[in-house]
Amino acid sequence: MRTSPHFRVATRGTSREINRSIVLNLVRAHQPISRADLARMMNIRRGAISRIVNDLISDGVIFEGATGQAVRGRKPTFLYIDSRRRAVVAADIRASETFMMLADLRGNPTTGVVRMPTARDPRELVPAMAEQIKRLLVENREIDACDGLGVVVPGMVEHSTMRVLHAPTLGWRDVDLREPLAAATGLPVQIENSGRACALAQAWAVREAAGTLRDVVFVSVSDGVGVGVMIHGELLRGRNNVAGEFGHIPISLDGPRCSCGANGCWEAYISNRATLARYFGQPLTHGAPVSGAGPQFTIDDLIARARGRDTQAAAALESTARYLGIGLAAVINTFDPACVYIGGEITRAWDLIEPTARMALAERALTAAAAATDVRPVGATEYPRLRGAAALVVAPAYAVRGVA
Ligand SMILES: [Zn+2]
Repeated sequence: MRTSPHFRVATRGTSREINRSIVLNLVRAHQPISRADLARMMNIRRGAISRIVNDLISDGVIFEGATGQAVRGRKPTFLYIDSRRRAVVAADIRASETFMMLADLRGNPTTGVVRMPTARDPRELVPAMAEQIKRLLVENREIDACDGLGVVVPGMVEHSTMRVLHAPTLGWRDVDLREPLAAATGLPVQIENSGRACALAQAWAVREAAGTLRDVVFVSVSDGVGVGVMIHGELLRGRNNVAGEFGHIPISLDGPRCSCGANGCWEAYISNRATLARYFGQPLTHGAPVSGAGPQFTIDDLIARARGRDTQAAAALESTARYLGIGLAAVINTFDPACVYIGGEITRAWDLIEPTARMALAERALTAAAAATDVRPVGATEYPRLRGAAALVVAPAYAVRGVA
């Protein structure tokens, strides 16, 4: 079947492909599920369902498990995603640390998270990551097949080649991680901007739970600020892969120096480093710990101090909350999404920062409805970036083939 990146021609096979994708997604969301339930949900004949299910079983994608209870007639057998011994590796590269875990074929974590310092030189980082990945796979002996490695990076990624075009907080320009990581691990490798991967994973995770959520934005606040935009169910990339880089919209012409080299970007006001620098009364610097903070003092410590009546810490967070809200207004006025998700350590202080962020958003949102846009924190313990990395490998398997 001929396909193009922008449209596809309907053929006799098209509806079968779409139904296959729908069945797979329904099993993913509702497993364990019977053929009869699938037929009811999709409103198509049992025979048609059985043909699709049998194909998926023979492809090794889903399997039949326990027999269920039926009030009368034949007992149904339940269907599952075949995730028993297969895994994917998820990696989240940040300026300070790199995090990794294994996930199942639904993108859910199956191991704890391992972390290591991020070597700024990719020639050191790649072998260090490969070693950790081998250890993870060896330690989890029940896994006998690994479907791939998904990597999220804090920067712009060229979609066709997966080259990292520019990762300001790492000081990387035009870095190829895919080939060396594939060579070092023997795995197929997918690389994407962390904000985009988070938007993809979030939309994918809630698609079945909350109906179709097609317009979402994910704002990931950590060492830098990553933003992923999904409109009509498609990730926004732009012609040159920089679309959605809201971390670098100017809040002020002569604000703090940003990792990208410009002054006054949103990131330079709300990143963890920015909040720490504000607390310690230091200028924002890059590549070294915030002076006065020491390498051990993190945003979590600052949040703990704010809760412990440290008024300076509370004031630093309050400012971050205000700038967060101002930037969110820009995002919402631009895309008018159904929901904006916020990820990162800052969400641990959501109860402290939400009222101020909401107020700043309301001041700048262009309508009352825009001001009331759903803004939801995604807890750091949910590892949205690692889930995003896993989704890079597993989500395409659920998409209609040739379209993903
Ligand atoms: Zn910037």
